[in-house]
Amino acid sequence: MSLTTPYDPQNIFAQIIRGDAPCYKLYEDDDVLAFLDLFPQSFGHTLVIPKRSAACNILDVDTDALAKVMAVVQKLTRVIVDELQPDGVQVAQFNGAPAGQTVFHIHVHIVPRYSGEGLGIHAAGKADPADLEQLQARLQQRIATLG
Ligand code: 5GP
Repeated sequence: MSLTTPYDPQNIFAQIIRGDAPCYKLYEDDDVLAFLDLFPQSFGHTLVIPKRSAACNILDVDTDALAKVMAVVQKLTRVIVDELQPDGVQVAQFNGAPAGQTVFHIHVHIVPRYSGEGLGIHAAGKADPADLEQLQARLQQRIATLG
């Protein structure tokens, strides 16, 4: 996938937005959706995506949609830090396969980091559904306290 490959409406995140594929949802509004990564690189790895932009990457997403995504990234990063107490957080975004992108609907990764724990392999080991459900409940509860 090059930086100019056209958007494929069958990509997995587009399916999640349409409700055609499941996700462990954390947050949704009219413009933005956030859910747990199915192949987490750390405990709490979260993805944030625009819902209305048929954009593969940062080059083709409209600025307003990107701003709305980043506002949710900040909000959820605060939630994750409050609830999971990591020692650091990586916020990452990849563009094009050579840069590590594997799903071609623009998204931002929130990856909590814990001292002494290495980063899991990107898009590799699938998490246990029970663990994801438990984590989803914890984070949703914390989000609910924000009002
Ligand atoms: P990228 O490699 O494009 O920056 O990130 C794509 C991310 O999506 C990876 O971290 C990968 O683990 C995650 N991912 C791939 N397929 C699915 C899926 O079906 N559901 C969820 N929730 N995450 C996925």
